[in-house]
Amino acid sequence: MCSSVPLLLDLECDGILVLELLAQLETTALADGTAADDVAVVERLGLGYVFDDVGEGVVQLVASRPAGRSSASGRDPNAVRLATDADEHISRTYLPSAVNVPSMYDFLVVGVGPPGARFARRAAEAGYDVLALEKGRVGEPLACSGHVSTDIWEFTGDGAREELFQNEIYGARFHVGGPTSDAYPFYKTDVASNVIDRVGLDRHLAALAREAGADVREAHTVTSVTEHHDRVAVVASGPDGTREFEAKMLAGCDGPRSRVRDELDLPQPEELLHGVLAFSEEDDHQDFVDVHLTPPTFFAWRIPRGEAGVEYGLAAPPGVQVTKHFEDLIDGYEIDVAHRCSGAIPIGPPDRVTTRRAFLIGDAAAQTKPFTGGGILYGMTSADHAAREINPERPATLAAYERAWRADLEREQALGRWIRRAYSLPEPVQRLGLRALSGEIGVHMDRPTSLVSLEHLKTILSRR
Ligand SMILES: Cc1cc2nc3c(=O)[nH]c(=O)nc-3n(C[C@H](O)[C@H](O)[C@H](O)COP(=O)(O)OP(=O)(O)OC[C@H]3O[C@@H](n4cnc5c(N)ncnc54)[C@H](O)[C@@H]3O)c2cc1C
Repeated sequence: MCSSVPLLLDLECDGILVLELLAQLETTALADGTAADDVAVVERLGLGYVFDDVGEGVVQLVASRPAGRSSASGRDPNAVRLATDADEHISRTYLPSAVNVPSMYDFLVVGVGPPGARFARRAAEAGYDVLALEKGRVGEPLACSGHVSTDIWEFTGDGAREELFQNEIYGARFHVGGPTSDAYPFYKTDVASNVIDRVGLDRHLAALAREAGADVREAHTVTSVTEHHDRVAVVASGPDGTREFEAKMLAGCDGPRSRVRDELDLPQPEELLHGVLAFSEEDDHQDFVDVHLTPPTFFAWRIPRGEAGVEYGLAAPPGVQVTKHFEDLIDGYEIDVAHRCSGAIPIGPPDRVTTRRAFLIGDAAAQTKPFTGGGILYGMTSADHAAREINPERPATLAAYERAWRADLEREQALGRWIRRAYSLPEPVQRLGLRALSGEIGVHMDRPTSLVSLEHLKTILSRR
């Protein structure tokens, strides 16, 4: 090979083509001060790979070095011999999996909560090559009540209800004060919602994504994201050290404190509430949850979970003494709790959740209900919009995703904000309002616009 000839490297791992790279032979300086002549330096994702022609149609990976630098880190003692067909300038490369070569996917999903798993599943079903990276174990740690409308079962697979169901709920008792204060019940005659095993839900949804063909990998924390004109590159640390991956499009499904959102300089949600919860060991099959309008601008709750115990929780904005309010709640109920956990709840989506080649779904995009903080259904609904609208070959389709999820949820979120304002009204006004409005309702818990539905109107008229 001579130095003016471009070199096409077909990088293979276990016989599978991983990447094709076109490189020019050049001279580069190595860290030990020596110069390497006629080497191919390939820069990908912050690392440079130096391939050396060692004659007789054989090329060797001799070093890796940080991209953009002129010196390599020295000859790699574990250098891999690459058999090449020098006449055609084509290198057949046989790389062991330890060699860190990025692969190109259609979609790379960061975070495997419900929206991430749902998007991975839907995109894989549509025939796309999907890699989903989860920083820990799917579903852990728990920071959610798993209180959802019965619509949840439209997003699950066979056997899910038997596996995940804990209790069914018909309504909520609202209290202006603590457990001994007056209760104002709002309820439906049909089941309004279910309490489910949230950790199990995440695992179930991840299994569906895997079955559909998505490559779901746990213990991979994405630490950096770089958007290029034609692709997005991420660096992730995992059990085998740091690895790089590339995709045509990136889905940031990494929750309320999204790393993807920060790395891409996307705007933040309007607000991040602090939620806490804990469990007692009482068996409780009651079909009402209790809601206490005690913490500023939000509420505390008690959720009966059947044989899985009772959950006590609350959420409030930063600056509020969440622990004190929580202690007041459990003191009021005179109960001991264990397994305390906490998490952030984003409220108010930013104006933009897409870039040229990346998009956010779920809590990363604040696709939550402003009056409850619930985001499981909104996130998965938005994942379906993303999977339907986005074509990884056509960045322009990201605008269609922005339009679709906002058209579906924007009015619900706007009305949800109005409902939340009632949590801050003076107590006497709250009491009057709760007394006037309580009773049977025809409202869907995920759709505040159903407050003005015919069904709700009929229900209200029928109780007078
Ligand atoms: C106290 C509390 C109670 C709640 N109760 C309810 C409820 O009853 N009903 C309801 O609908 N909603 C509830 N929510 C909201 C609900 O939990 C979220 O809306 C939902 O989990 C959003 O899913 P997500 O996948 O967007 O985010 P998450 O569930 O936070 O999942 C994000 C995933 O990304 C992973 N991740 C993060 N960073 C990285 C990274 N750098 N690399 C790789 N992976 C990463 C995380 O490990 C995680 O698995 C509650 C929230 C809180 C805090």
